Amino acid sequence: MKKEKAIVVFSGGQDSTTCLFWAKERFDEVIAVTFDYGQRHRLELDCAAEIAKDLHVPHHILDMSLLNQLAPSALTRTDMAITEKDGEPPSTFVEGRNLLFLSFAAVLAKQYDARHIITGVCETDFSGYPDCRDVFIKSLNVTLNLSMDYSFVVHTPLMWLDKAETWELADELGAFDYVKERTLTCYNGIKGSGCGECPACKLRNNGLEQYVAKKEAR
Ligand SMILES: [Zn+2]
Repeated sequence: MKKEKAIVVFSGGQDSTTCLFWAKERFDEVIAVTFDYGQRHRLELDCAAEIAKDLHVPHHILDMSLLNQLAPSALTRTDMAITEKDGEPPSTFVEGRNLLFLSFAAVLAKQYDARHIITGVCETDFSGYPDCRDVFIKSLNVTLNLSMDYSFVVHTPLMWLDKAETWELADELGAFDYVKERTLTCYNGIKGSGCGECPACKLRNNGLEQYVAKKEAR
């Protein structure tokens, strides 16, 4: 039987680490790919590399500094504040990021003859990122298949989960403590529970509290 291989788009954060555990449970061979686009914190790349090593997953770090030349955002520029305004994408939005990342991931996947591509995008906690929507992913999946004449399957295990449910999924995968302690989500580059103040920490920690409360109520 042909081995099913999967590529996980992996940042070292809570969501993509949960996806990595999810993929490891389902596929014979899993490869992680991380994009270096001049993140504020190099620590993010180190953190991703550490996790991949820990989980015995081959890891590619691809240079996407081009993205920052095209479209600087608060994720890459230390002179831009992280702000959120109603009705507008937050300043952390990088135009076209998932389009580019998933396209490059697909090119890499085909080299490995890996049909499956996993991304931790999520529409539930939709923070105004158009390329996190399910309709975009489905559309891109068709485009990728046509562009390379190959039947990729883009998996989005977190698409309809809220942050509490993402914690629950990590727990089901036996990865709750690992994800809690070893991943980096914080915009200020602090691992685990983070700075507690930035929008990423607030989202992560609220979800964690909700999940823990739900678990204790059982
Ligand atoms: Zn933070």
